[in-house]
Amino acid sequence: MLSDKDRAYARAKGKAIINRHAHEMLHDRVGAAEPKNDGKQTPWRGHPVFTAQHATATCCRGCIEKWHHIPQGRALTEEETNRLADLVMAWIERDLIHHPVR
Ligand SMILES: [Zn+2]
Repeated sequence: MLSDKDRAYARAKGKAIINRHAHEMLHDRVGAAEPKNDGKQTPWRGHPVFTAQHATATCCRGCIEKWHHIPQGRALTEEETNRLADLVMAWIERDLIHHPVR
């Protein structure tokens, strides 16, 4: 679940910008063949994409291998990054829909 702060942030930025962040963050944190601090590189809070990464098992290469069947030890392809970003975005959108602005 997103925090109220994350929801407000996501709504203020809009889908296109959060989607860009999702691509950038996945590319930078889990995209390399051997990501830095793999397993601990994704904070639990501070950006809606971080929270969504833990919820969708796109937080580290171990989770990505286990849940999305993408092997460790090689860089993610652009197509794989896009696919994982789509999962992150779908999760964020679902959270926003379930927590409408009152
Ligand atoms: Zn993980």
